[in-house]
Amino acid sequence: MTNQGTNLDPWYDSYADRTAGLSASEVRALFAVASRPEVVSLAGGMPFVSALPQERVLGSIEKVLRDNGPMALQYGSGQGTPAIREHIMQIMALEGIRGSADNVVVTTGSQQALDLVTRLFVNPGDVVLAESPSYVGALGVFRAYQADVVHVAMDDEGLIPESLRETIAALEAAGRPIKFLYTIPNFHNPAGVTLSWARRLEVLDICRSHGILVLEDNPYGLLYFDKPAPQAMRSVDDEGVIYLGSFSKTLAPGFRVGWALAPHAIREKLILANESATLSPNSFGQFVITEYLDQTDWRGQIDTFRHLYAERRDAMLSALGEYLPKLSWTKPDGGFFVWVTLPDELDSKAMLPRAVKELVAYTPGTAFYSDGQGRQNMRLSFCYPTPEFIRTGVARLATVINGELDL
Ligand code: PMP
Repeated sequence: MTNQGTNLDPWYDSYADRTAGLSASEVRALFAVASRPEVVSLAGGMPFVSALPQERVLGSIEKVLRDNGPMALQYGSGQGTPAIREHIMQIMALEGIRGSADNVVVTTGSQQALDLVTRLFVNPGDVVLAESPSYVGALGVFRAYQADVVHVAMDDEGLIPESLRETIAALEAAGRPIKFLYTIPNFHNPAGVTLSWARRLEVLDICRSHGILVLEDNPYGLLYFDKPAPQAMRSVDDEGVIYLGSFSKTLAPGFRVGWALAPHAIREKLILANESATLSPNSFGQFVITEYLDQTDWRGQIDTFRHLYAERRDAMLSALGEYLPKLSWTKPDGGFFVWVTLPDELDSKAMLPRAVKELVAYTPGTAFYSDGQGRQNMRLSFCYPTPEFIRTGVARLATVINGELDL
C-alpha cells in the first residue's frame, strides 16, 4: 500500500486486511528493465518455448477446433477433463506415482493450486514451513493469506531434516499451529539443489509424526540433465502429501495448465475451491494439451528441452568458474537455476541497478525469503538466454562484482 495519505486511492481504507500481503514481487519489478533487448537477463525463469515443434502445436490447435470445437470452447468440469487427468497419471508414473485420476484436480497453472491449497488450510497467523530460500511466487501466496512463513535450512542435499525437527519443536513449544511444509524437492527454485532420497523419507517421517501435511511442488522434475531425480515424495505417501505438477516447463506456460494430486480426503474440497475460483480450468488448453500428448513424441520433446537446458547450465557453470572464481554457487542437476553466494561485503539488492547499467540482470536473493535474508545471494537463470548470451551476462556480472569489491 504505497499510496496511504496521498489521496491517489480513494478506496485505501476499504481494503481487506489481507491485501497488506500483496506486493509486486521483486522479480516482476525486474521484468520491465530486464526485457530490454540489450540487457542479458539472468533474472526471469521463462521456459525456452521456441524449442517447441510449432507446427505440431498448431496442428493440435487446429484438430481440437475441427473435431471438438464446441466442447473445447465451452466451460468444463471444475476438476479438469478425464482425458487430461489420465495423461497426468502417466506423466506422474515417470516419477513413481501410482494412484487414481479421480484424485487429480486440474488448475490454472500450479500457481493456482498453491493458492487453492493455502486457501483451504491457512488462517491468518498460521505457520507455513518453507525451505530457506523458497519460490518467490509461493511466498507471495502465503503472504496474501497472512500465513507466517518460517524458513527451514537447506544445504546441497536440500532441506536438512535436523533443522526441520528443531524448527517444529520450537514452534510446537510456542503453541503455534503448523499447517504444512512447502517443499520443492527437485532442482529447487531458486537454490538449484535436489533433496536426496534418504532425506525425502526422513522428511516424510518427521511430518507424519507431527501431523504436518506436505505440499510437494515439482514443476522441474522431468527436466533432469544426467540422471533422473529420486522418485516423488508422493510415491511413498498417498495420505500426507499434496503433489503439484505443471505443463509450464515441459510444454508451455501459456496454456496455464497445472494440477494437484491430492489425498482422497482433500480432493473434494480442492475441486470446490477450484470451482469457486475459476468455475473450470482452461478448457481449450486442456484439449490442446491432450491432443498434443496423444499425437506427439512428448517424451522426446522433453529430452530436447533437457539437452538444451543442460548445455545452458554448462555454459553458466563454466562462465562462473572463469569470470568469478572467488564466489561459490550451486551445481544443479536439472531445472533452470543457479544460486550464487557473494562475499559478505556485497549486497545483491543494492548492486542490481549497477548491474542493469552494465546490461545484465539477476534476481536478488531477498526475493526468496519472507524475512529480509538473502542480500548475500543472487539467483541466476540459465533457461532462456543462449549459451553465448549466458557467457556475456556472466562476464558483465563479473565487471560489476569486481568493481564493487575494489571500492
Ligand atoms: N512452483 C515453482 C517452484 C515454480 O518455479 C513455478 C513457476 N515459476 C510455479 C510453481 C508456477 O508455475 P505454473 O503456474 O506456470 O505451473
